[in-house]
Amino acid sequence: MKYEGMIFRPPSEADSLILQVTVGCSYNRCTFCAAYQGKRFRIKSLEEIKEDVDEVSSYKIRRVFLADGDALSIPQKGLIQILSYLHAKLKGLERVGIYANAKDILRKDVEELKALKDLGLGILYLGLESGDPEVLKRIKKNATVDQLIRAGKRVKESGVALSVTVILGIGGVEGSQSHAVETGKVLSEMDPDYVGALSLMIVPGTPIAKEIETGTLVLPTPFALIQELETMIANCQFTHCFFASNHASNYLPLRIQMPEEKEEALMRIREVLRRKDPDLLRPEYLRAL
Ligand code: SF4
Repeated sequence: MKYEGMIFRPPSEADSLILQVTVGCSYNRCTFCAAYQGKRFRIKSLEEIKEDVDEVSSYKIRRVFLADGDALSIPQKGLIQILSYLHAKLKGLERVGIYANAKDILRKDVEELKALKDLGLGILYLGLESGDPEVLKRIKKNATVDQLIRAGKRVKESGVALSVTVILGIGGVEGSQSHAVETGKVLSEMDPDYVGALSLMIVPGTPIAKEIETGTLVLPTPFALIQELETMIANCQFTHCFFASNHASNYLPLRIQMPEEKEEALMRIREVLRRKDPDLLRPEYLRAL
């Protein structure tokens, strides 16, 4: 496999073959994100992609994740060619996953997303980060709350599983409460299949690192992040969703099947908040992006 630069994938794709079909992120301007800094965005040629697939075609591969940042930005015809080739070459293939941003999704109609599903696209990862319009503007998310909700709903309507990422702490101390409440509400409207909550970790050199340096943004304390988690979950109403805060950046790893385990999870979080014992939290040295 020929990879260009660092490769990122969702934690749940740890066992998947990572197939790099684009290099970098076509947007690349979110203030907190350093994932694809220095990478010039391009879509790999079908020949390059086919070579990589051919190289692994004799292995039994059940899952493939299409990297990099927003591979759904590939025009429909290209995605159909890639998925068809994967389907033809990898006999045991069960699921293909992909990152997408709201605008990539909204560029496709439900029928187009359904066509990708029929060719094996099983899960789509969308970064919401926050449901608070002010936070989205400040972090330069390049999508409004309305666009993000419409994008999430469109994915759900197509039958492709929807996994949404949110970031604890991204509203700073001042915006903490409203970030948590609004994110819970927006998640409820999207009603995704999976939610992954991360905690903001500052990467030097990013615009958000400057905000921290100058004091424009103040990071919430670990227990304030857990309070955000509590508020967010309390504001989430899901039909059927697996909510996880077990990413390495979080202080309190949880795996919650909603709605069944919501109240139990809230009780556990409230107990941690009541005791305020740092030993109950993941130690700082074990936290990572
Ligand atoms: S859209 Fe995603 S990958 Fe691109 S800059 Fe924003 S967070 Fe990073």
